[in-house]
Amino acid sequence: MTTVLSKSLLFLHPKSLSVAPTSRFTTMLNPPTAARARLRGVVFDMDGTLIVPAIDFAAMYKAVLGEDEYLRIRAENPSGIDILHHIENWSSDKQHKAYEIIADFERQGLDRLQIMPGAAELCGFLNSKKIRRGLITRNVNDAVELFHERFGMTFSPALSREFRPYKPDPAPLLHICSTWDVDPKEVMMVGDSLKDDVACGKRAGAFTCLLDETGRYDSPEYARVDHKPDYKVSSLTEFHSLLVANFELIP
Ligand SMILES: [Mg+2]
Repeated sequence: MTTVLSKSLLFLHPKSLSVAPTSRFTTMLNPPTAARARLRGVVFDMDGTLIVPAIDFAAMYKAVLGEDEYLRIRAENPSGIDILHHIENWSSDKQHKAYEIIADFERQGLDRLQIMPGAAELCGFLNSKKIRRGLITRNVNDAVELFHERFGMTFSPALSREFRPYKPDPAPLLHICSTWDVDPKEVMMVGDSLKDDVACGKRAGAFTCLLDETGRYDSPEYARVDHKPDYKVSSLTEFHSLLVANFELIP
């Protein structure tokens, strides 16, 4: 049932029609120098990584911040806007309204929820190797539960933004590693956000992989960001190949 659902979603994803499987090769930004590194767990971001991006973040930020403030903050933050951080110190009334707007955008995103192409196959592969699978999202726990329901495979621990501090703080990833009793050096964090997923992974001491479906991070504005991923891929299928080629997968 789940497989059928995932496959049907895969065919519904418009990008699956246009992206050739080897349109861009895996970029190894920091190739391992010694033998294949050991990997015992993979921690995934959810929105834009396991779920096809369905939230219009620019529209959400504009709705929360207002057009002028949005443009000002965007110019100051080339790697992306941390909206939760920006509203953290607002008055409770203003903050409440902001959270309502964000929740509304997130709900609309969930209505259109589609599993990312390659996700089911990748998780099946990790299962076959008995590799641990965790999830960290800045979305709410209800969204994580709905995702689990639709996807039919479990990520554990799965931490939502109710877990503080959230990404890009390394705390959620360190929490998962300690729950697993696995060294962060033997864990891979994969996600589509340089400022959240890669930053969180680097700060925790894990391997990091940036999922960049459209090549947007090739743009020069990202050249001066602090955190560089160890790997960059354009699809989860490519990520799957990267794991096979570069890592010794150990339960
Ligand atoms: Mg994401």
